[in-house]
Amino acid sequence: MKRENVYVIEDEPDILEVIEYNLSREGYRVGASRDGSDGLRKVREEHPDLVLLDLMLPNLDGIEICKRLKNDPVTRPIPVVMLTAKGEESDIVLGLGVGADDYVTKPFSPKELVARVKAVLRRGPLKENSERQERITFTAEGGSVVVDAGRHEVVIDGENIIFTATEFRLLHYLASHPGRVFTREQLINRVIGEDAVIIDRNIDVHVRSVRKKLARYREMIETIRGVGYRFRDSDY
Ligand code: CA
Repeated sequence: MKRENVYVIEDEPDILEVIEYNLSREGYRVGASRDGSDGLRKVREEHPDLVLLDLMLPNLDGIEICKRLKNDPVTRPIPVVMLTAKGEESDIVLGLGVGADDYVTKPFSPKELVARVKAVLRRGPLKENSERQERITFTAEGGSVVVDAGRHEVVIDGENIIFTATEFRLLHYLASHPGRVFTREQLINRVIGEDAVIIDRNIDVHVRSVRKKLARYREMIETIRGVGYRFRDSDY
């Protein structure tokens, strides 16, 4: 099996050492830079399988690096996981807004970091609308929820539940990307933005009504405080 290559851009030597040690031990090839512009150049050269990106960096900050990587079709598919400071939810929102795939808050445990890297590598780059799954089934607690885009149907524990067009799109979008955090802004643009007649652009209202209909599965949609929403990843 090919050893996956993770590139780390982090200027704090202690944190960098912990990351390098733990990822190498897990079998990853690890490259690293402690400088923003040097890191960006190396990522463009080496085209790693994943980038771990600190935000506060000398010469070029992480948000700018992420923006440049995601604006370039060549580097866009490379997943970017931000390393953010605890309590800096606005940084997370900003980073997700410029295309970061996920984040880990410092201080993190090595176990948490490795789990996140694995999860992001497994799910791959963000799927565009055309690649959306037609039919999504998730099972829990002896029952199941089926979200069928072809039939525009949600079946919960065998019962067909009526969803509005917006509610359906919201549920389908979130369920198509388990484990991925979306900001409110992203959800508005990708779910509600398509529908010009929708007056209520308050995503929280729509999430609330979707949860209500999900009933005992309501917790499949997690609220990420200060950031947005995530559909639970059952494998993670
Ligand atoms: Ca830093």
